[in-house]
Amino acid sequence: LRRNPGEIEFHQAVREVLESIGPVLGKHPEYAESKIIERICEPERQIIFRVPWEDDQGEVHINRGFRVEFNSALGPYKGGLRFHPSVYLGIVKFLGFEQIFKNGLTGLPIGGGKGGSDFDPKGRSQREIMRFCQSFMTELYRHIGEYTDVPAGDIGVGQREVGYLFGQYKRITNRYESAVITGKGLSYGGAQVRTEATGYGCAFFVDEMLKARGTSFDGKRVVVSGSGNVAVYTIEKVQQLGGTVIACSDSSGYVVDEKGINLDLLKQVKQVEHLRMDAYAKRHGGNVSFVAGRSIWELPCEVAMPSATQNEITGKDAEALVRGGCIAIGEGANMPTTPEGIRVFQEAGVAFGPGKAANAGGVATSALEMQQNASRDSWTFEFSERRLQEIMKDIHGRCLKTADEYGMPGNYAAGANIDGFKRVADAMLSLGLI
Ligand code: NDP
Repeated sequence: LRRNPGEIEFHQAVREVLESIGPVLGKHPEYAESKIIERICEPERQIIFRVPWEDDQGEVHINRGFRVEFNSALGPYKGGLRFHPSVYLGIVKFLGFEQIFKNGLTGLPIGGGKGGSDFDPKGRSQREIMRFCQSFMTELYRHIGEYTDVPAGDIGVGQREVGYLFGQYKRITNRYESAVITGKGLSYGGAQVRTEATGYGCAFFVDEMLKARGTSFDGKRVVVSGSGNVAVYTIEKVQQLGGTVIACSDSSGYVVDEKGINLDLLKQVKQVEHLRMDAYAKRHGGNVSFVAGRSIWELPCEVAMPSATQNEITGKDAEALVRGGCIAIGEGANMPTTPEGIRVFQEAGVAFGPGKAANAGGVATSALEMQQNASRDSWTFEFSERRLQEIMKDIHGRCLKTADEYGMPGNYAAGANIDGFKRVADAMLSLGLI
């Protein structure tokens, strides 16, 4: 705490991991002897930089850019970029720290990193966003590379922004280095299913948790928070698997559509016209309500899939969900449940799929994008989706097996933390004192 003052989210993420790896340290004294914990909590490198840009009226703005290159024991640093006014070092470090273990859990050769800026894309024109991305990359380019550090998207950074960032990288370096960034459009090195991967993967993960309890999505009431990349494709796959998603949200409020969210309308409102959530209710014309200023988690449902942002499910929200009959949680977002919330779910016996495991489909498919770029190949949608489903099934199985091995049956959070930690720690030991 003294070393990283004020980095609240980073402290929370570290505590959550360290609390569950006690039994591993007991079994493996070599980790403590070589100070693995101290080393793993300290980023290999942190870059903070100025991002100057000009708006459409000619006014100059200065934002702050970050890239935290946390751990490269398993492969090049890999993790997204977030553009949101709340971004500061504590958020980037929490995300980067989570990413180390998540990437370890996928079994793919990728290290952990994360970055972003306190730039707020809301209300900005396409040209302003392009100019910001170009300025951001004008500094970032010297720190990244196919074998060094491979960014991707996150909140506020989708395919459009990735395109502008890649365009500027290519222009500055004069290198068509496709695997320097993932989440690209299909016409310039992107991979099938990357856009859908985090949401689809989360739905596959929850499907496995439900199967392990002898049930399925069929006929279940599901609530998904957010209406961005992760939320939209979570809704799409849950609907395909037979669930009814009755609500989704953005930061202005939530909509309830008891017959099931109309995905075409949601995509039109959010992805094409970039409108606020109340537009969904206004356009729908049916029996749909828009609710502002209240928590979406007050709605009774059997499955909850938080897909917006960190700490969105508090202890109180978790209690309301349990009272409302919730049996499974799939964290599409990173760290969306507070420590109190996690405790409530675990004490109530709710199947709790932590973000590290449940949303790992995004980064796993990014690694597949890098693989296709390296071999100048592109796989079909069907093949890529099958690979994603296999990866999520494998992660689910490994979380359960590891939790069992360490005497915590059914505890996916402990299983994910221990498995991810062991992979990274073992690689660090093999690489010597780095
Ligand atoms: P998007 O920017 O596409 O969407 C974010 C959504 O969450 C929007 O609907 C946004 O609403 C809402 N939101 C953001 N902040 C808040 C807030 N403070 N309160 C309420 N709603 C909020 O981001 P993504 O879908 O890509 O990311 C969502 C989550 O998933 C993040 O936690 C991210 O780290 C995680 N994630 C993303 C991956 C990816 O592949 N994209 C991979 C793994 C995890 P509004 O527009 O009103 O702000």
